[in-house]
Amino acid sequence: MNTDETISPQYPPINLLYFVTILQQLRFTVTYQNNTLMLQISGLSKTYPNGTHALRDVSLTISNGMFGLLGPNGAGKSTLMRTIATLQEADAGTITFDGIDVFAQKQELRKTLGYLPQEFGVYPKVSAEEMLHYIARLKGVTNDRERKELVKSLLEQVNLYNHRNKFLGGYSGGMKQRFGIAQALIGNPKLIIVDEPTAGLDPAERLRFNNLLSEIGENVVVILSTHIVEDVQELCNDMAIIASGTVVRRGNPETLLREFDGRIWRKQVAREEIASIQENHRLVLSKLSGGKMMVHIYSETNPGNGFVSVDATLEDIYFANIA
Ligand code: ADP
Repeated sequence: MNTDETISPQYPPINLLYFVTILQQLRFTVTYQNNTLMLQISGLSKTYPNGTHALRDVSLTISNGMFGLLGPNGAGKSTLMRTIATLQEADAGTITFDGIDVFAQKQELRKTLGYLPQEFGVYPKVSAEEMLHYIARLKGVTNDRERKELVKSLLEQVNLYNHRNKFLGGYSGGMKQRFGIAQALIGNPKLIIVDEPTAGLDPAERLRFNNLLSEIGENVVVILSTHIVEDVQELCNDMAIIASGTVVRRGNPETLLREFDGRIWRKQVAREEIASIQENHRLVLSKLSGGKMMVHIYSETNPGNGFVSVDATLEDIYFANIA
């Protein structure tokens, strides 16, 4: 019989406990540091041969999580995304990611990159399953069994398993984008770039796609480039606004919203009043709401004249910065 059962539990002495706690904290610090990734963009500029200044001295430091790059069409988002993805050169500046010098070590970066470009062409007469097998083989998943499991789990993750045998040419816009994410996830990338993924999707497809993006997780850097404010609002814990090739605002959405606290005023107006409001106030946005014209202005003091204070939204911040 084991007499140990009758012995009351022995607790370690206090100083041992202290030592164990310190060790645990150290382990946490080391693990945490191992998981922290950093994309560092410094002084990036690009002028196309036709003279268009697409990027002007862009500098950004981006860490783990979902980063929103928000800007109107023509702001330079795709130029920046393609440059990070090593698909085009910049005229000046540097990019590093997790110790990789992106311009000098393009292959290294590509190994750790998942990229869903703005124009995502698919082979129309190939099924999703076949295509994922093909891409996985290209990305070095040569073991048949491993590849089969990977393709199956990706198809399940993006909710396309039941459509795996359909030709990609028959997919809806939303299904194509979900397939695009599946191919981008092959190879466990640490840097994932999605360029304008929800443009052209209907609201239900957009919601499904954003839910999928939100599941990718915090242990990678995800850059979501978009002109749709709601995408950034729903998904991103960090963001920048880019306009005319320049970063005009940078921060996390809550901090940016706080800067506008008590400074956004709303009024319902007749269409013909807008010009005079624009003359006398800093007009942030005007939009139709329930068939009526609604304006938002920025003012540090009460502008009176029927304006009421409203909580600022990311839309206010966006339009105030790109105007
Ligand atoms: P966004 O993705 O924000 O819409 P882009 O990076 O596509 O912006 O474009 C930024 C600017 O550069 C735009 O004025 C666009 O017309 C121009 N541009 C983009 N690609 C080229 C190109 N290959 N040649 C010339 N101009 C270009």
